[in-house]
Amino acid sequence: MNSAWHRPTVAVITLENIKYNLRQVMNRLPEKTQAWAVVKANAYGHGAVEVARALQDDVAGFCLSNIDEAIELREAGITSPLLVLGVMPTESVLLALEYNIAVTVASQEWLDKLLASDSRFAGLKVHLKVDTGMGRIGFRDSREITLAVENLLEAGMVFSGIFTHFATADEKDNHQFQKQLHLFEEIVAKLPQQPTIVHASNSATAIWHEDTVFDAVRLGDILYGLNPSGTTLELPFELKPALGLTSELIHVKKVPIGATVGYGATYQTSAQEWIGTLPIGYADGLTRDMQGFRVLVDGQFCEIVGRVSMDQTTVRLPKYYPLGTRVTLLGSEGDRQISVQDWADYRGTINYEVTCLLSDRIARRYKD
Ligand SMILES: *Cc1c(COP(=O)(O)O)cnc(C)c1O
Repeated sequence: MNSAWHRPTVAVITLENIKYNLRQVMNRLPEKTQAWAVVKANAYGHGAVEVARALQDDVAGFCLSNIDEAIELREAGITSPLLVLGVMPTESVLLALEYNIAVTVASQEWLDKLLASDSRFAGLKVHLKVDTGMGRIGFRDSREITLAVENLLEAGMVFSGIFTHFATADEKDNHQFQKQLHLFEEIVAKLPQQPTIVHASNSATAIWHEDTVFDAVRLGDILYGLNPSGTTLELPFELKPALGLTSELIHVKKVPIGATVGYGATYQTSAQEWIGTLPIGYADGLTRDMQGFRVLVDGQFCEIVGRVSMDQTTVRLPKYYPLGTRVTLLGSEGDRQISVQDWADYRGTINYEVTCLLSDRIARRYKD
């Protein structure tokens, strides 16, 4: 799908801020720690190719969730190490080999299926995933892991890494975290051979459990200037948000008292009112539950009134504004600002979901 380049609704991504956030995290970790940037889901909506190009000299590699995301980076000329964190169909592994993409092996059943095929996988880079309590994918048993390591080495594959993922690193209670950590340490200690890198830290682990970084950290949310705990835990340093979202008034009208606005006629004017229309809707990721949220029109907070439609959103204006008046949906205008976290809080969700759901229809522009 093409982005709507001729529409005044634009996400502006400041790549310099992403680099700044990366430095903020890495400055506090042991010098030898490798940074892997997690750019899955189009870099959480920020644009995977552009973010990878900006960071390629500053990180050891990039993490993706599926092989197509990894191939997109290769085809854009990114030569850094790439790791697919999810389980890919065994049929895709030859492609991973061809594009020099490291795969995650998360079960013996999958490995058996792969090795039963006629192809050869010598040189394939493998990271073993350990399920220490997340409960999604991964080996849970030390003996199984030993067998998998033997199998993959026999097949000529490269044992590039072993990793796990924490379920509660962004919470105040450390109980589950410690349980997972001890299990992982035990498993790593029992490995028949050490891999190139051991890694366990997502953003939250890297900033609130610095003592537990192994060889590498996998940073997602924090790179984009977002607090992975939402508002639960305070950040130990300042971050710079990487994404702004602006639009313009494309229609402005004065409506009489008692007029209704939007599908379902859920809003009725209580006086003569100025209503402005913005060219953005739920198909862009401004979801329907944002009705009642306030955006900045010419620096003034204005409420979204009536239902958010697929492509259009209506706001109540304090006075007449001309067509083309700037509207800020994310970012700052004067001393007022709207953050991704504000959207998340309003919607009862997490900041991750807000930027991931900004659809491809929104044109992205890059600063720096
Ligand atoms: C998405 C993901 C990350 C990054 O998580 P953040 O909280 O965004 O830093 C790290 N590791 C794995 C396995 C993931 O799936």
